[in-house]
Amino acid sequence: MYKNIVVLTGAGISAESGIPVFRSETGLWEHERIEDVCVPSALVRNPQKVHDFYNRMREGLKSKEPNPAHLALTKLQQEWPQKSGGKVSVVTQNIDNLHEKAGTRDAIHMHGRLMTMLCTACHQRWEFAGQSAPDDTCPKCGRKGTTRPDIVFFEEMPYEMDRIGALLSECDLFLSIGTSGVVYPAAGFCEIARSSGALCVEFNLEASATVSQFNYGLYGKASVTVPQFVEHLLKTGEVLRKI
Ligand code: NAD
Repeated sequence: MYKNIVVLTGAGISAESGIPVFRSETGLWEHERIEDVCVPSALVRNPQKVHDFYNRMREGLKSKEPNPAHLALTKLQQEWPQKSGGKVSVVTQNIDNLHEKAGTRDAIHMHGRLMTMLCTACHQRWEFAGQSAPDDTCPKCGRKGTTRPDIVFFEEMPYEMDRIGALLSECDLFLSIGTSGVVYPAAGFCEIARSSGALCVEFNLEASATVSQFNYGLYGKASVTVPQFVEHLLKTGEVLRKI
């Protein structure tokens, strides 16, 4: 019987809620080059552009709702402990708030969140739903010009890696949903879970770059595959191997 479950989610789980995925044929993310909005030097070169980019995305989130895949994970997190005595931990690469809107508790946002801001001087963060600017005053320490979107840029260390490592090393089942498997360190989580003896399953439209690390994959839209998998697991205690 599986006990502890870790679920890793990526941009694909939110695609059907209307949030575009990261990898596009143009190489752009939401019409911008990565080096203009998602690396630390961009904040120095053109901070206004960086703030504007995340302001647009934050504003866009207001109209986005969780889809059946997010909701199924909440159901799994709520019902699995009574069934197994274990727990369900959600680790997301997403910066959106759809796990929270779906009711999932304590999702670890390893790449940060659109709905929080960070002060580079006092290192505190706070909930934020508005429009930020480079010369804003930090509400925590009162300094001016030290606030930034709470997003982990390329070249920066993802959040809560120790906690994630501990969860991976004690899980029996690892589910990876809607991630391309090319962004590290998340792309290496499956290997850690497998070396701890976990069964690893990927959910994607097609096999990802790291498919060979997984025991098997379930392919199709996450809004269909994830609820089916969760219903079967909650009913039987067994994993679904084919859709
Ligand atoms: P990615 O864009 O690199 O890959 C998305 C994956 O999801 C692809 O493999 C694709 O085949 C799959 N996919 C697309 N639609 C799907 C669906 N309906 N059902 C199942 N799978 C589907 O995303 P990534 O691997 O998460 O890495 C991109 C980085 O960009 C992340 O670290 C994240 O921080 C950031 N990002 C976040 C958001 C968000 O918050 N929603 C959106 C775009 C990018």
